[in-house]
Amino acid sequence: VTGPSQNQTAPLFERLALIGIGLIGSSISLAAQRKGLVGKIVGSARSSETIKTALDLGLISEGFSNAREAVVGADLVILCVPVGLSGQIAKEISSSLRDGAIVSDVGSVKAAVVHQMAPHIPKGVHFIAGHPIAGTEKSGPEAGFAELYDGRWCILTPEPDTDTKALAKLRLFWEQLGSNVEVMTPEHHDMVLAITSHLPHLIAYNIVNTASQLERVTGGEVIKFSAGGFRDFTRIASSDPTMWRDVFLNNKDATLAMLGRFSEDLEQLQRAIHSGDGETLFQMFSAARETRRGIVEAGQDTAAPNFGRNPDPKTQSQKQ
Ligand code: NAP
Repeated sequence: VTGPSQNQTAPLFERLALIGIGLIGSSISLAAQRKGLVGKIVGSARSSETIKTALDLGLISEGFSNAREAVVGADLVILCVPVGLSGQIAKEISSSLRDGAIVSDVGSVKAAVVHQMAPHIPKGVHFIAGHPIAGTEKSGPEAGFAELYDGRWCILTPEPDTDTKALAKLRLFWEQLGSNVEVMTPEHHDMVLAITSHLPHLIAYNIVNTASQLERVTGGEVIKFSAGGFRDFTRIASSDPTMWRDVFLNNKDATLAMLGRFSEDLEQLQRAIHSGDGETLFQMFSAARETRRGIVEAGQDTAAPNFGRNPDPKTQSQKQ
């Protein structure tokens, strides 16, 4: 299932163990297989159902009911589970890790994950935390696709004493998966992601819940007229609740700091609407439009109207 493919002469890693095989884990497997990056891919998940699906889909060639057995003999281990589990799993796998192995993760929060995992990593094993800035609102092993990381950033957050060869090898792995790689501290990562990812999800969850309460008053009109903007928030707000609960529990300080800034700016808008200050509204909206232009120019989204969606909702793609 996972034999080296034609594109690369020798695999970068002999044996990859994926702990958690949802959207992110399954996409790593598919992207790695596309390029023949690893000799063999094995994995574990919480449920036997996920393991069976992963085997059926050819995402792994061997499945284990626990992480401890899955990592035996692996030279690359990647945790792809909700971040609240990182410490517990690092502790569980600690004594089974092979000397010289690289242990990494994909969690959306970094400082708390490093803090939880690092104490359990034995000497001789290289721990380098990571986070691919790529995803969709879908979950589970069937949600993955090989192109997920193409042209997207992956952030690695090594410690000051991280082995440079191990870091270079993990960087190459992510580059071969299709990503551009950037290295930064876990704390810097958490601050940047608080504003670019965590806060937008919080806002989406909140606006969808506010509107669904109003729905009782408007009698179906929120859903009917959702293409006016609301619908785009509901896509983000359909993301996995466990994953996002863990993000806010583990990136408390940075998300609260960004929420404070956001609230101040929202109040400014509120004041401008209240006092009929059209100039402020126009300036703030124009600045936001420029930001959007920058994202499109950086190749991080399509310039097509309506995010390139098919105008007929019945034939819309699942992966937008
Ligand atoms: P997902 O699709 O929900 O998959 C999570 C996986 O973790 C499943 O295989 C699940 O197994 C497994 N799992 C849950 N509890 C477990 C446990 N106690 N022991 C072992 N395995 C367990 O999640 P995902 O979207 O791939 O996210 C995984 C990680 O990637 C998270 O840390 C998230 O922060 C990060 N991330 C997500 C995105 C995104 O857009 N989704 C983007 C970048 C990074 P079962 O299926 O058996 O429950």
